[in-house]
Amino acid sequence: QKAEWAKLVNEKTVTADGEHVELAANIGTPDDLTGVKNNGGEAVGLYRTEFLYMGRDQLPTEEEQFEAYKAVLEGMDGKAVVVRTLDIGGDKELPYLDLPNEMNPFLGFRAIRLCLEEQDIFRVQLRALLRASVYGNLKIMFPMIATLAEFRRAKAILEQEKELLVSAGTAVSDDIEVGIMVEIPSTAVLADQFAKEVDFFSIGTNDLIQYTMAADRMNEQVSYLYQPYNPAILRLVKMVIDASHREGKWTGMCGEMAGDELAIPLLLGLGLDEFSMSATSILQARSQIRGLSKQDMVELAEKALEMGTAEEVVAEVKRVTEAK
Ligand code: PEP
Ligand code: MG
Repeated sequence: QKAEWAKLVNEKTVTADGEHVELAANIGTPDDLTGVKNNGGEAVGLYRTEFLYMGRDQLPTEEEQFEAYKAVLEGMDGKAVVVRTLDIGGDKELPYLDLPNEMNPFLGFRAIRLCLEEQDIFRVQLRALLRASVYGNLKIMFPMIATLAEFRRAKAILEQEKELLVSAGTAVSDDIEVGIMVEIPSTAVLADQFAKEVDFFSIGTNDLIQYTMAADRMNEQVSYLYQPYNPAILRLVKMVIDASHREGKWTGMCGEMAGDELAIPLLLGLGLDEFSMSATSILQARSQIRGLSKQDMVELAEKALEMGTAEEVVAEVKRVTEAK
């Protein structure tokens, strides 16, 4: 089977009835690009920049960040690279930042919340990204956006930094898409409003599921509630995708669900444009998608949206995909 998959490295990802979707990779460091290439990744759908900040005792400089972003953009040869700005807090700590201890770190001061407050940290990262933007196809993504006001503030800071660089004579791409992660239910519910202002969405199901089901993604005792196939989750995913398409925008997914064999048929049917996963899952997903009919998956997804439980959804996915 692995040998069969390997033949698909340079193939496009098209369904049996000719619909193209993009299979992208999640990466944490520039070194991960080897895996992306070897597995036929069509883009980087999530570059988790936290790793630049972790495992050290001070913040990375603008220059260090610039070099890392440039390496990834050049390494991808003009293919899209979605870079997520700093998503620290929750399960990811930075000892040298001396952040307050919180009762509920996952509901606390993290990610974009921290960046909008500690703007010197945020601005350094944005400058490094803007300077690197001329070396490839950069897209910038803000994590943990809960309100439109947060997005507007983050975008305004980005625009300010861009103007400062440009007026100082630094080259910056004028073609950078700016999008958000959808990982908080309020943002999924209000996706129609966000879609007018963002260039793209990427659904972060790892967090979206935990916040929708109110079940800590690290807590074994409540892991039975961590249900990617729950119709409640599928309906949120649908709202986001439909809202983006109505505005001519695109939606990706960079949570674990995007590379899951049972979820892929549903996501295809819901109209997801880009699937971003660990590089080692890409060839298997491409092989699977090439065997599926988009039209059949649309029907499957429509049925799933009307079901009551995750178990029913899973049974239906299996019935439809194994019947072929
Ligand atoms: C997510 O929440 O789905 C996601 C991709 O981000 P992380 O796993 O880094 O929180
Ligand atoms: Mg997340």
